[in-house]
Amino acid sequence: MENNNRKLARILSRIADFLEFKGDSIYRVNAYRKAARVIKDLPEDIKELHSKGKLGSIHGIGEKLREKIGQYLEGGTIKKYEELKREIPEELIILMDVPNLGPKTLRLAYEGLGVRNLNDMKKVIKEGTLTQLPGMGSKKVKKIEKGLEIFLKGQDRMLLGEAIQIGERVLRHLAPHASNLSIAGSLRRMKETVGDLDILGVGGKEIMEAFVQIPGTKEVLAKGETKASIFLEETQIDLRVIREKEWGAALQYFTGSKEHNVHLREIARDKKLKINEYGIFAIEGGKKLGGAKEEDVYKALGLAYISPELREDRGEIEAARDLTLPTLVEYHQIQGDLHTHSQWSDGTATLEEISLEGKKLGYQYIAVTDHSKSMKIAHGLDEKRLEDQIKTIRTINAQGKGAYLLAGIEMDIHPDGTLDLEPDILKELDWVVASVHSHFTQDATERILSACHSPWVHCIGHPTGRIIFSREPYPLDLEKVFKGAASTGTVLEINAHQDRLDLMDIHCRKAKEMGVKVAIGTDSHHIGQLWMMRLGVGIARRGWLEAPDVINTYPLKDLLAFTKRKRKGG
Ligand SMILES: [Zn+2]
Ligand SMILES: [Zn+2]
Repeated sequence: MENNNRKLARILSRIADFLEFKGDSIYRVNAYRKAARVIKDLPEDIKELHSKGKLGSIHGIGEKLREKIGQYLEGGTIKKYEELKREIPEELIILMDVPNLGPKTLRLAYEGLGVRNLNDMKKVIKEGTLTQLPGMGSKKVKKIEKGLEIFLKGQDRMLLGEAIQIGERVLRHLAPHASNLSIAGSLRRMKETVGDLDILGVGGKEIMEAFVQIPGTKEVLAKGETKASIFLEETQIDLRVIREKEWGAALQYFTGSKEHNVHLREIARDKKLKINEYGIFAIEGGKKLGGAKEEDVYKALGLAYISPELREDRGEIEAARDLTLPTLVEYHQIQGDLHTHSQWSDGTATLEEISLEGKKLGYQYIAVTDHSKSMKIAHGLDEKRLEDQIKTIRTINAQGKGAYLLAGIEMDIHPDGTLDLEPDILKELDWVVASVHSHFTQDATERILSACHSPWVHCIGHPTGRIIFSREPYPLDLEKVFKGAASTGTVLEINAHQDRLDLMDIHCRKAKEMGVKVAIGTDSHHIGQLWMMRLGVGIARRGWLEAPDVINTYPLKDLLAFTKRKRKGG
C-alpha cells in the first residue's frame, strides 16, 4: 500500500526539482515538495482516499494538486511531469538525486560550465572549476563532493553507530518535555545502516517546539501539530507526537520492519482484527481492543512479545506463536571487550587507561589485542616488544586498579595461511585473535581455516573483512569457515566497530546453528570507541544469539578456562 504513496511522492518531488531547475517560482516548487512529503507519510493508501473522494481531507493539498493526483491514480503518471521531463537532458535528471547538489546549482553548472552528466560533474569538482560559479565556495563544493560520494555508493544511509549518536542526542534534548519517548524504525531494530531517523514522543506543544530548536538543526522541513521533520546536520529526523493511549500501537507500527508488519496484519485479518498505528480493533463493529502498550499488539494476535531486533519476518513470528523465541543476549551481561588496540600499535590509549576505562564500563576484563609485526604501518609488535607488553600488563593487573587486562594479540594470517608469530610467544598470551589484513582479492577460505587449525588461535577477527560503504568482503566460503571453527573450537568475532559489524546478523544465526561461539570486540583504537560494544550486542541479538553463545558474557574465570580448552586440544 505504501507503494502508491511513495511512487506518487517521488513524481511530485521530481516535478519540484524540474521547476526549480527551470527557475520557476519558489512558491510553486515548495507546494510540490510539501505535497510529496505529506503523501509519502500518509498512513492510508492514496488510492483508497481518492476512491472515497477524500483527497480534500489531506492538509496541504489544493485543488490543482488533487487533479494531478487523480491523473496519476488513473493513468499512472502526471502530464506535467512528462512534459517537464522531456525538456531536461536525461543524464542531468539522474544528478538531481545527488545529496547536497540541488537543481539550482545543477542548472548553474549546466549553463555556466557545460556540465551535462555525472562524469562532467566529477570533472568540475576535481579540477576546481565548480568554485567559479556564483555563490559557490570551497566548503559548498566539499559538500557536493561528499554528496556525490554517497550517491555513487547507491545509498542514502548512515552507519548504525552514527545514527545512534544522533538519535540519542535528540532524545536527551526532548526528554524534559515528553512523558514517553522512543526511537523507532530501523535504528530501534539495530540495523547495520539506517536511513531517516524516526522518533516518537508523548507530550504537549513543548515537545514540538523543543524538536525544531535542537542545536545543529539546518532546516525545519515541516512542522505540524503531531508531526515535524528537521534536517539535523545531514540527517532527516521525523518526530511524531503520539497520544498516550495509542503509544504501543504507534511504536509497534513505526518500528517495522515492513515485512514483519505485513505478516502481522495477515494474522490479524485471519483473527478478524485490524491493527494500525492507533490500536487494535475488531473488524466487525470497530471495537478497540488495545494499543497503549506494544505488548498489546502481540498479545491480541496470540504471540509472545518480539524484541525489535528480531522484527524482520525471518521466522520470529512463528517462534513467537510457538513460544520458542530465543532469550536474547543483553548488553548488561557483557563482562568485557575482546578486541582493543593501545599505543603499543596504532591505538592512542595507554594500557592503564584501557584498564581503568574498562572498570568504568563495569567490565571484569578487557583484552589488549595490538597488531603483530607484519602490520608495519600500524607499528605491529614483534616477539620482543610483545614480551615487554605482556610484562607491563601483568604489572598493571597486579596493582588491581582497573579491569583485568588479558594479554592478547591481533595476529596477521599470512596469505599462505601461516601465522605471524611463533608458538613460543603465543603460549604466553591469554587471548589470540587472528585476522586477514592483506591480499583482499584472494579467496581467504583456506587461509582462515589454517588459522582455525592452530591450537594457539582462539578467535578469527572480522571474519569476512568487509567495511560498510567501502570494502566488499574478501572471497570466502563462510559455510566451510563455520564448519572449521566448530570442529576446532575456534571462536568467530562480531567486530562491533561501526564501520565493520562483521560477522553480520544473518551470519551469527548460521554460526550458532553450526555450533560456533562468538566473541564481541569493539576493535577500539581510542577509549572513546569502547561504547560500540552496544552495536555488537545489537548485531548478536539480530542474529538470535543468547548469552551462552557469546563468550564475553562469561565471568573471567570461565573465560580463561574456555580459552585453555583449545590449547589442550578440547
Ligand atoms: Zn583487524
Ligand atoms: Zn583490530
